[in-house]
Amino acid sequence: MLAAISASGKNCGVVILEKNPSPGKKLLITGKGRCNITNNCTEQDFLESVISNPKFLIKAIYRFPPVKVMEFFESLGVKLKTERGRRVFPESDRSSDVLNALLKKLKECNVKIIQGDAAEISVQNGRVSGVKYFSPHGESYIEAYSVIIATGGMSYPTTGSNGSGYKLAAALGHTVIPPRPSLVPLVTKETWTASLTGLSLKNVNVSFYDNEKLLFSEQGEMLFTHFGVSGPVVLSGSAYIKHFPVGMYIDMKPALSAEILDARIISDFNEYKNKDFSNSLDKLLPKAMIPVVVSLSGTDGRKKVNSVTKAERSKLVSLLKAIPLTVTGTRPVEEAIVTSGGVNVSEVNPSTMESRITGGLFFAGEVLDVDCYTGGFNLQTAFSTGVLAGENAVK
Ligand SMILES: Cc1cc2nc3c(=O)[nH]c(=O)nc-3n(C[C@H](O)[C@H](O)[C@H](O)COP(=O)(O)OP(=O)(O)OC[C@H]3O[C@@H](n4cnc5c(N)ncnc54)[C@H](O)[C@@H]3O)c2cc1C
Repeated sequence: MLAAISASGKNCGVVILEKNPSPGKKLLITGKGRCNITNNCTEQDFLESVISNPKFLIKAIYRFPPVKVMEFFESLGVKLKTERGRRVFPESDRSSDVLNALLKKLKECNVKIIQGDAAEISVQNGRVSGVKYFSPHGESYIEAYSVIIATGGMSYPTTGSNGSGYKLAAALGHTVIPPRPSLVPLVTKETWTASLTGLSLKNVNVSFYDNEKLLFSEQGEMLFTHFGVSGPVVLSGSAYIKHFPVGMYIDMKPALSAEILDARIISDFNEYKNKDFSNSLDKLLPKAMIPVVVSLSGTDGRKKVNSVTKAERSKLVSLLKAIPLTVTGTRPVEEAIVTSGGVNVSEVNPSTMESRITGGLFFAGEVLDVDCYTGGFNLQTAFSTGVLAGENAVK
């Protein structure tokens, strides 16, 4: 959509071919329906948040940086706010406001939207000449001076981005770096997470270790699932894991030192001294977690609190500060927030987003082998590369 807007108004017709009845289905689900449109940061900070191929994005980000994205949406009447981690959202917390503003702008720019599934890009004398597509009415063809492939990755394929852009690019000689999941739920060796499916922990600290080496540590919200773990802080951390297995540790009480936590437990134990150990943790933990923690602690849950030894209490403190899990892999790319891999950026001119192989062919967004951490950086990438591709695709 950004590519089409920036290509418009230059004596040249602009058409969006969108396989869904209307564009922006993925945009609607971004940021849990609130759409974290960008990150209120400098170009340099942005580049440090790119996981794959930051150098390729230098020209694009300086051409259309976060500040310009914010100005652009404000100019469309979308009031914005900046939250924790410089994440920028519409003030209304509604991604539909962002999408509606874009659709209105496309209309003003006379961009035509055709429902069609692009199947083949034709080439004459080394330059693109048109696109064959399938509309609800059958096969059709549109002539084109330039074509921008902005088909996204292959995550959440029900939104429309199912990897078909890779095939279009490969058919024109482009190399596609094999797609892999990034920002993705994680599978654990331990199966006890299944008994806590749906339980979300807020304000815990999650760390990942490759043997002794700390890969990631952040406070936030996480979720237990039937296969392992998910939720914002796990998705963020997943981007730092390059191979498996890795150790994961959940600090249930990041605001308390081990000593203070111990003092709190002593106070709870005094209050519950005649109860069973398994009935003494209600003030410390969500109810569903108590059987798991009791089992991991190695202390018999039926033991009376007044006979729990100092060593057993000390083990409980260590456990609550670092509940261990073993991460053995990720969920598939379809369940990832972003697809890593895609069109090899060495075959694309970073100053224009034009293919180095076929004239008049451009790329924008997640179809390229670029992906970023969470925080609005992935949409920013789509917007910046879209603007650059759009303005270079017209005569
Ligand atoms: C659940 C979720 C939440 C997210 N939240 C955020 C967030 O808050 N902030 C952030 O920065 N990023 C977020 N992302 C990532 C972000 O949504 C993507 O990186 C971004 O949408 C990529 O934009 P794109 O234009 O390249 O591709 P897409 O948004 O995937 O759009 C591609 C479009 O191309 C269409 N298409 C595909 N193939 C064809 C074809 N052959 N013919 C015609 N049309 C076709 C698709 O239908 C789709 O509409 C989130 C992703 C997910 C899945």
